Amino acid sequence: MDLLTALVDKGLRRESPTRDEALAVLATSDDELLDVVAAAGRVRREWFGRRVKLNYLVNLKSGLCPEDCSYCSQRLGSKADILKYTWLKPDEAVAAATAGVSGGAKRVCLVASGRGPTDRDVDRVSRTIEAIKDGNEGVEVCACLGLLSGDQAERLRAAGADAYNHNLNTSEGTYADITTTHTYADRVDTVRQAQAAGLSACSGLIAGMGESDADLVDVVFSLRALDPDSVPVNFLIPFEGTPLAKEWNLTPQRCLRILAMVRFVCPDVEVRLAGGREVHLRSMQPLALHLVNSIFLGDYLTSEGQAGQADLDMIADAGFEVEGADTTTLPAHRRGGEAPAGAGGDAGAGCGAHDTACGSCAHDGVPAQAATATATATAAPVASSSGSASGTGARTDLVAVRRRGAGTDLPPNA
Ligand code: SF4
Repeated sequence: MDLLTALVDKGLRRESPTRDEALAVLATSDDELLDVVAAAGRVRREWFGRRVKLNYLVNLKSGLCPEDCSYCSQRLGSKADILKYTWLKPDEAVAAATAGVSGGAKRVCLVASGRGPTDRDVDRVSRTIEAIKDGNEGVEVCACLGLLSGDQAERLRAAGADAYNHNLNTSEGTYADITTTHTYADRVDTVRQAQAAGLSACSGLIAGMGESDADLVDVVFSLRALDPDSVPVNFLIPFEGTPLAKEWNLTPQRCLRILAMVRFVCPDVEVRLAGGREVHLRSMQPLALHLVNSIFLGDYLTSEGQAGQADLDMIADAGFEVEGADTTTLPAHRRGGEAPAGAGGDAGAGCGAHDTACGSCAHDGVPAQAATATATATAAPVASSSGSASGTGARTDLVAVRRRGAGTDLPPNA
């Protein structure tokens, strides 16, 4: 296809596709899907080889949020039967983080529900960051605490945080349809505050909330313009008890096209397959590794992922390798924006090569996320391939509420 040849050439040169080209990727047929994956895979391998970075989520504070993000199981008024607890103690957070690092994770993502942290919260998280870094040499720490002031961002950076996550989630034009308690502009501002403080920005999206192809392209181009170092791509987990509980409208093929489009628009950025991986890609998960260079290990914030060992086996079986702590994730031309391998590093910056740029993440980006068909800590989930049609009811076979790890007495899945 001329389209794919043009997109590969641009990706290898770090040039942006046109908006029409990005839309055309989303409009490709199932007959063309493997060609699309192969083309985007060439771009992925150019900048990241066959490495897969593992990230590990620690939910510091779960549920009871005053914000009303429609996709989130922790939202105001959520009836989802999730774990609810206030701040983990630093030693509890360290234990959870250490389990993730022992399982192969290179980055620990500390997430807390809420509109944004108080100064006292920032002090608390700062102590937690310092304790995690003391006990896990070379680990990267990303904080995800909601809307952030410039001063708070600087304090987190001073405490040793490498990155900050705040997602844009959806296009500016549809943002008010999914959340009313804060604005798209609030989110953009937080990403910029993090960047200004020298934190590596992590910002992404959630697909499957009823948005159009144009909306998806809009948010991904907005992300490119913001120029984060990592872009998490979440696929909505329609959590029972949330307003989007019936939005089962993704197929594995649709997810792969979306990931390919993100890779073409953000060719040299860490594209992270986030929540919804197991639920929506199911047996097609290994194909997504040709598009993304980063995933979460084990469980998500409020839902279960497949067993950590199943993640590692999948990576090995597909011919990829887990990225080690001694390897720098981003290509050399972007390294001003991330922590040098094995060190705290000075984050910040972004891709100067981007003529437009890439975007942000919310500590939600992962909340109402993925899960698996199993509720055990060891079984490999991946449910049947039949659940992708729209308009279906609860999929308890696909979405399991997290009942282990942080906030429980059971060991974490890592
Ligand atoms: S995404 Fe974050 S801010 Fe929004 S409801 Fe969930 S926890 Fe609260």
